[in-house]
Amino acid sequence: MLRALPWMAIATDVNGVIRHANPAACHQLGFTEQELLNRTTILLLHDLGQVQQRAVQLTAEWEKPVRPGLEALTMVARSRGGDQFDCDYLRKDGSTLPVQLNVTPLMAPDESSMGFMFTARERDLKPAAPADLPESPENSFREFLDGTHDLVQSITPDGHFLYVNRAWLRTLEYLVDDLPQLTLVDVIHTASMGQLAFLFKQALSGHRHSRQELILRTRSGAEIIVESSNSFSYENGRLTAIRSIFHDITSRKQQEQLLADHQRQLSSANVKLAMLATTDALTGLKNRRVFDERMDYECERAMRQKTPLSLLMLDVDHFKDFNDEFGHPAGDRVLQQLSLLMLQNSRSIDCVVRYGGEEFALILPNTPLDGALIVAERFRETVMKQDWKGSGITVSVGVASLLPQSDADIQTLIDTADHCLYEAKHAGRNRIFPAIGSVS
Ligand code: GH3
Ligand code: MG
Ligand code: MG
Repeated sequence: MLRALPWMAIATDVNGVIRHANPAACHQLGFTEQELLNRTTILLLHDLGQVQQRAVQLTAEWEKPVRPGLEALTMVARSRGGDQFDCDYLRKDGSTLPVQLNVTPLMAPDESSMGFMFTARERDLKPAAPADLPESPENSFREFLDGTHDLVQSITPDGHFLYVNRAWLRTLEYLVDDLPQLTLVDVIHTASMGQLAFLFKQALSGHRHSRQELILRTRSGAEIIVESSNSFSYENGRLTAIRSIFHDITSRKQQEQLLADHQRQLSSANVKLAMLATTDALTGLKNRRVFDERMDYECERAMRQKTPLSLLMLDVDHFKDFNDEFGHPAGDRVLQQLSLLMLQNSRSIDCVVRYGGEEFALILPNTPLDGALIVAERFRETVMKQDWKGSGITVSVGVASLLPQSDADIQTLIDTADHCLYEAKHAGRNRIFPAIGSVS
């Protein structure tokens, strides 16, 4: 009987999958019966935008969320035993066929639902609208939404989808048929659940708009970072819909992240470079460059604040002999151990420097000559008493100080300390030698 019908007749199962299409349907739509069988009606034959629009319309009329898939096409038929409405079928060649659609639920003898019968008659089109008539604002708006690259969605207060545009479906890798099973939670990344909760809080507390950054999750699990602009609709004070536009900023974020990573690497490389430029590789002490800078700074400060400043110059005694007897690597270990002892026996404001070879300098800010002598003697003793595994290491120390209010220059202070070191060596080594009085 269906075969002879002049109208298009398509029978589907309860999921909207085509189980039968009569010759009129195949002919008018340009498909073979094989091409139609087992395909989903709404995906193949319906303008998805129109289905979404009908879902929005029915949601408003029925005051409950209607999903923009098969439900939008069949819910009236299911509850009233049949339905008739105008829509556009899509032909195989992509053209539209305006039809008047009848939807009838197919019932088994036991009253269980078997599917639906869609019969369609080509709609008599009114004479074409005069060319100067403005196009329908609704159509042009839908075209506009489908044409944009931004993702557009409208959801019910419980997170079900009322409308999504093509970019939304394409980007999040869903088909319109998936929408009934989805809620907003399915497309929001777990990392953004906090923002999502905040969005709903704003919606329920009467806000009109909100903006936030969200991470979306596509069907295959990819992350998309978006800037969302949300507006909330209310009827009689009750939230009815949340509409959002998502602007994809993933690549911008990735660029920013890359830049931040590079900057972090660069600044850590700079820190390393600065360390290398100011640190002695063998001992980890500050090097001669730091010594020059610190001496400038401390001398200037001592004169300005009228405080004393002392300088110790230390040299390992007969170190050449030690190297000759125990080898250079053992000599290196001695220099490292001496450095540690110097750091342990100085204050944090003091500056311990490897001045060169087996010679060290210790800058003692705010320390007069007698204080510097105590430090020098304590250090000489510590070195002497240290267990050097039978080899006996000692140091000689030259001590010089800058008197408060003196205007002696830095070089004089260094030369004096150096000269005192020479005197300590000359006097027999393993001793300290102070400048007579202080540099003035
Ligand atoms: P003095 O008591 O007169 O200072 O005698 P000295 O042997 O210590 O002095 P001299 O200037 O003759 O020799 C210094 C020695 O220090 C020679 C050199 O090999 C050694 N030296 C300098 N730098 C290092 C280093 O980095 N590691 C080792 N193992 N030895 C070093
Ligand atoms: Mg020496
Ligand atoms: Mg030396």
